Amino acid sequence: MSSDFNSVKEICGAIHLHTTYSDGGVGYQELIEAASSVNLDFVAVTDHMSLGGKENGFEGFAKDLCVIVGYEHQDSINHNHYLVFGVQKVFCGIDKPREYVKAVRDAGGIGFLAHPAEKRHYFGNLPPYPWTEWKIRGFDGIEIWNQMSDWMEKLRSPLSAIRLFYPRRFLASPPSELLKKWDLLNRECFISGIGGVDAHTRRIGKGLFSFLIFPIKVELKGIRTHLYIKNGLSKSDYDTSRESILGALRDGTGFFSNYRRGDARGARFYLRNNEGQMILPGKAASFSLPSMLFVEIPQRGSIHLIADGKRVKTVHGSKAEFQISKQGIYRIEVYRKTKAWIYSNPFPVGSYPFQTV
Ligand SMILES: [Zn+2]
Ligand SMILES: [Zn+2]
Repeated sequence: MSSDFNSVKEICGAIHLHTTYSDGGVGYQELIEAASSVNLDFVAVTDHMSLGGKENGFEGFAKDLCVIVGYEHQDSINHNHYLVFGVQKVFCGIDKPREYVKAVRDAGGIGFLAHPAEKRHYFGNLPPYPWTEWKIRGFDGIEIWNQMSDWMEKLRSPLSAIRLFYPRRFLASPPSELLKKWDLLNRECFISGIGGVDAHTRRIGKGLFSFLIFPIKVELKGIRTHLYIKNGLSKSDYDTSRESILGALRDGTGFFSNYRRGDARGARFYLRNNEGQMILPGKAASFSLPSMLFVEIPQRGSIHLIADGKRVKTVHGSKAEFQISKQGIYRIEVYRKTKAWIYSNPFPVGSYPFQTV
């Protein structure tokens, strides 16, 4: 049934990583070693207002790992963080979100709203950095699941600081209000979803009493983004490989997962329209109805079909088939027990703009 998938290669990577070029605790060598040791196919580094990794030659393949360098733009009050890829320079001095979103698009780059729904309850000296400019359009996607924000939001008391030692254990799910926004926006135009790590690998305390929170190797075993790339990456052609990755990120051709709940590699989400064509999640809309949406996951889970923001069907197991008989925005969420595991990008079925529901 899924034989068309033979030409599609899934790659798995970590997005939104900080290094010593901004406030991260690791340099490129350490990051590359850690990412290779956990078998990632790509990393996308985003230091604050710095393309230092690109300027110093770290873009390229490090053995099997494709290293992409973008950056994280923010405004002068440290809100509206924006993950930027595929640009040649940092847009220093552009302070208004509307203007930096536009500058990135005009330069042929792509951009994602970073941790847009961030809330923090406990660390008064580490305020949240939400996205506030929701009227702006022209961004390509949203970081729907941010490992760091998810963790910080649950830090409500000094006792809960035990989470410092087990950063991945407490990852729950993306914020529900953000999922709602994503579903609504997708009725206007396609908006890709990614999962980000926001890895900083910080040392806290002093001397004998200091310890490393969020060791990089642990961080890389959390939120991951998986992409479907036709014919896979070519190690001998970095530029084409990077373009394939950025194209798949922009077009939402894939899904994101929490590795802590299980290795999601091998998960397949696709639609087959009534002409028999296979359609991957993402920007390429299907126009023919009825269609079938197929799901195959590497371990059993609760597979939920989300239609226009509402959970409409659930199948327990490692496979599901859903008949799609009316226009709308469809996506899949998979839970294991009560914990969120995998989020597919949406399948738009019909034509834009969709009517409001
Ligand atoms: Zn940020
Ligand atoms: Zn960040």
